[in-house]
Amino acid sequence: MEPKTTDLTQLFGSMVFNEDAMRQYLSSNSFAAWKACVENHTALDLSIANDIADAMKHWAVERGATHYTHWFQPMTGYTAEKHDSFITPAPGGKVLLEFSGKELVRGEPDASSFPSGGLRATFEARGYTAWDPTSFAFLRDNTLYIPTVFCSYSGQVLDKKTPLLRSMEEVSRQAVRILRLFGDTETSRVIPQVGPEQEYFLIDEKDFAKRMDLRLCGRTLFGAPAPKGQELEDHYFGAIRPRVAAYMQDLDRELWKLGVLSKTKHNEVAPCQHEMAPIYTDANTACDHNQLTMDVMKKVARKHGLVCLLHEKPFAGINGSGKHDNWSLATDSGDNLFKPGKTPSQNARFLLFLAAFVKGVDEYQDFLRCTVAFAGNDHRLGAQEAPPAVVSIFLGDELTAVVESIIHGTEYADPGKRALRVGVDVMPPIPQDNTDRNRTSPMAFTGNKFEFRMLGSSQSIAGPNIALNTIMAEELEQFADELEGADDFNGALAELIRRVFTQHQRIIFNGNGYEDAWLQEAARRGLANLTSTADALPAYTAEKNVALFTRHGVFTREEMAARQEIHMENYCHVLSIEANTMLDMLRRDILPAASAYAGALNRRALGHTSSSCRYENATAARVSDRTDALLAVCDKLEEDLKAAPGEAEARMTYFHGVVLEDMTAARTLADQLETLVERTFWPFPSYSDILFYM
Ligand code: ADP
Ligand code: MG
Repeated sequence: MEPKTTDLTQLFGSMVFNEDAMRQYLSSNSFAAWKACVENHTALDLSIANDIADAMKHWAVERGATHYTHWFQPMTGYTAEKHDSFITPAPGGKVLLEFSGKELVRGEPDASSFPSGGLRATFEARGYTAWDPTSFAFLRDNTLYIPTVFCSYSGQVLDKKTPLLRSMEEVSRQAVRILRLFGDTETSRVIPQVGPEQEYFLIDEKDFAKRMDLRLCGRTLFGAPAPKGQELEDHYFGAIRPRVAAYMQDLDRELWKLGVLSKTKHNEVAPCQHEMAPIYTDANTACDHNQLTMDVMKKVARKHGLVCLLHEKPFAGINGSGKHDNWSLATDSGDNLFKPGKTPSQNARFLLFLAAFVKGVDEYQDFLRCTVAFAGNDHRLGAQEAPPAVVSIFLGDELTAVVESIIHGTEYADPGKRALRVGVDVMPPIPQDNTDRNRTSPMAFTGNKFEFRMLGSSQSIAGPNIALNTIMAEELEQFADELEGADDFNGALAELIRRVFTQHQRIIFNGNGYEDAWLQEAARRGLANLTSTADALPAYTAEKNVALFTRHGVFTREEMAARQEIHMENYCHVLSIEANTMLDMLRRDILPAASAYAGALNRRALGHTSSSCRYENATAARVSDRTDALLAVCDKLEEDLKAAPGEAEARMTYFHGVVLEDMTAARTLADQLETLVERTFWPFPSYSDILFYM
């Protein structure tokens, strides 16, 4: 039951069994036990779990719940749920509503069909889900949702949440070691903070229903450019139209009820494209909330007769959708470790964390690239609208000047100033750098956080954040090992920072990432340019990457091999579905339409006795040329699909090379036909119908 109030403070979190609700519904004893379990990351006692389950059930049933589900994040990148009702038979043909601690803590979905990359032998095909007590349960559609992790019986990880939680532990442990060196005796945890900006398209459901490609693939596989695109930039930050405004209002309310801190909304560059950004939270909650946000976005759209497209590239020639993963580290008292400080010591700390980040991104650039490598994102990265496929870090002019002064021991900024001495001097104020406005950098420092901009709009943010956390843990561990043994801390610190910036300078780039000159420069610097999923994914299990994740206990070697295989298979599945959808639309819609039109033109020409019928004859000939060519491409695509090899990497390479090329050829011809065939003959809504419906 939604509170009948316009008071947002009441509405917010009203569907969440949050700390407040727990305090109200739990005995003070159980509440304290839960709190201790979350703070110290210890296991819950079964008697406490029983109490919490009972309280959760009461809270949920009072609000109309009939079912509960363990909600988990398998390797598909989506969320999964299996609903059980609370009812248990009672004497006299009645039922009781029951929910025990055992059911709260552990569930056993019959989940053998989720991709596991060969990790689960058939005899132990079932995995189990286990409650993540650090993430609040919530209520949706009369079901109590319990956020859980998902593992196999032999303990192998089958989901995205478990490694995320592990990586958060690791980076916390190492960051606290560093803080101790700076005399911080208070901080007991350091928590990655994440704010993901989510882009999406909204289109009319009538158009969606008429296009099989949108329905099955989430993107258009065909479509000639509309006469008008985004060139006037009249949509970007433009006034939000009433229909969309109503949607956004509804979306905000739904998200607020679920405790999602939805904060900003605006129109994006492309027509029909919009963005929503939440206020940042810890990485685990941010990941849960982003999954929830994507789901709620789609559901709310249907209520407004709209469809929300989360695909990275729904329309060719129009900007695609990404997700900016804003990431920083904060202490448990809320002190942001990426905030340039006001004292020499705070600055030294900032520079040390910055150095760790720069070193880590340089050393693991290939892995970071892998975390955003999938079929949908291949349409964006490296194109002129999204970051290039080369990973680099934007620091802005001021901070770069500081880094250079440290490297060279020379003066920074205004001539006449001394070199900045780490731990002795105060840094100049670091403004949010305006030179970054063109947004071409894949990883930008934006004042007190890094903005990782290579993510695709549809993807789970878990993978990139697992990587960022683990990479930081590794670098901070190396730094702590070195500095803990130093006799002169300040001297060793200054030396370390200078050395690291010197060795990893190549990853810093403040210029325009869209220019070819940058790609040439990046090659000279030895930076990886992995232009597609097929190019990137082999690096996933490079020995240094396996060493990183196994050393920190985030993945085992087998889990990494399994994940790589799942990503490769997923790429081939997506392309195979797209290719088959294309074939279906070509053979059953496009070719028949073109043929019918050519036939009509020929009949019209025959019917005319008084004119030379140049238009009819010439157009019919052009249409026939294309349909002949298109038929040949269809046959080739069909044959090539059959000939795909079975082994995962070879198959991926084959789909990327052979199948994708056929698909491109088919699309080119079909789009030419669309511009030739009379409007009433064309079987689907065009780009101008879809994008300019408002
Ligand atoms: P932009 O210019 O990219 O739109 P915003 O200031 O709107 O930047 O912030 C974008 C996102 O960054 C928001 O989700 C915000 O909550 C998040 N964010 C802000 N500060 C931090 C931080 N310290 N750590 C992580 N995320 C942050
Ligand atoms: Mg941003």
